[in-house]
Amino acid sequence: MIYFDHSATSPIRREVHEEVLKYSDVPSNASAQHIYGRKSRYLIESARNTILQNLDIVDNYNVMFCSSATECNNTIINSFLDKAIVTSNIEHLSILNVVKDNCHNKHYIPCLPSGIVDLKYMEYLLKQLFDNNVSMLVSIMYANNETGIIQPISQISQLCKKYGASLHTDACQVVGKIPLFFDSISPDFITISSHKIGGPLGAAALIYKKGSLLKPMILGGGQEKNLRSGTENLHAIIGFAKAVDIVQNHLDDYQKNVSILRNVMEQRLLQHSAQIIGANMIRLPNISNIVMKGVSAEVQLIKFDLSGICIGSGASCSSGKIGQSHVLKAMGYPDEIVNSAIRVSLSDTNSLEEVEKFVSTWSDIAQS
Ligand code: PLP
Repeated sequence: MIYFDHSATSPIRREVHEEVLKYSDVPSNASAQHIYGRKSRYLIESARNTILQNLDIVDNYNVMFCSSATECNNTIINSFLDKAIVTSNIEHLSILNVVKDNCHNKHYIPCLPSGIVDLKYMEYLLKQLFDNNVSMLVSIMYANNETGIIQPISQISQLCKKYGASLHTDACQVVGKIPLFFDSISPDFITISSHKIGGPLGAAALIYKKGSLLKPMILGGGQEKNLRSGTENLHAIIGFAKAVDIVQNHLDDYQKNVSILRNVMEQRLLQHSAQIIGANMIRLPNISNIVMKGVSAEVQLIKFDLSGICIGSGASCSSGKIGQSHVLKAMGYPDEIVNSAIRVSLSDTNSLEEVEKFVSTWSDIAQS
């Protein structure tokens, strides 16, 4: 099988697997006083440190471990329900749905046809809220998971500082993909996730500036400094930290190799009259959103699958049903484009041969 759906989830890296296996016999209740408890605690604190060090933010930030990026995003929005929430209409549903259902004072920044959020409107809105003494949380993703388009996060951060807003950024698609400048951008909260970078499922981190106020969603024994109760998922956390360490230390090679694959693929597809969403925008090197006019995404996915190629629709896809992409809709694309777009997401484990096979299959499907 050819796996081109790494932005949905990426298989566990061999080194991560080996690292987790080293500790598989440690009974893993990090709250226990006995030797295994102390060992688990040490491993969890080391993992926290490894993540912060690899992201170069060890001095000012702390990590709350939890189960998924969805949980991180729910936690941050639920922590600010008494404030105004400012988000965009291209966020992941783990932001949009909790904002829709739980927030009273919510504001959406539209996205421009180019795929980035409208900074002019954002400035206008933040100024209005600021002038009315409204406290606010801004939550904007670092890069979009469907198009790969990188958001102007430095400028967003500057606006937040100017108008006294806290900033959360969902960065789970960008870790290990592009150089990150969290230290200078200085968001108050950052979401990152293990299984998007070849770590185990079941671990994610809500990274927060020291001294920030978060409200726990899960109550119980008070683990994670009272922010997220429940026995920590030691083995997933160990694997997560190892994955962060690997991807951050192979960033140059990753960017070079994956960009080559992506660029070859897109150049070849353009010769077959594909449309690439956001082709001229600054994008993550691994994501390509490709339109095959006249063929629905659903039909494409089935045909690729029958040809041994796993692709994601990019749009919200649960229980096997593909929804319409709210991201492409927000960019203003008509239904015939939205319904014919698929997301290809590559990794450094893919090869040029796989790309060639994908392109020839794509062209066969387009002509059938
Ligand atoms: N945020 C972004 C940008 C994502 O791409 C995803 C998953 O695709 C999530 C959040 C949710 O991740 P999870 O399903 O691991 O909770």
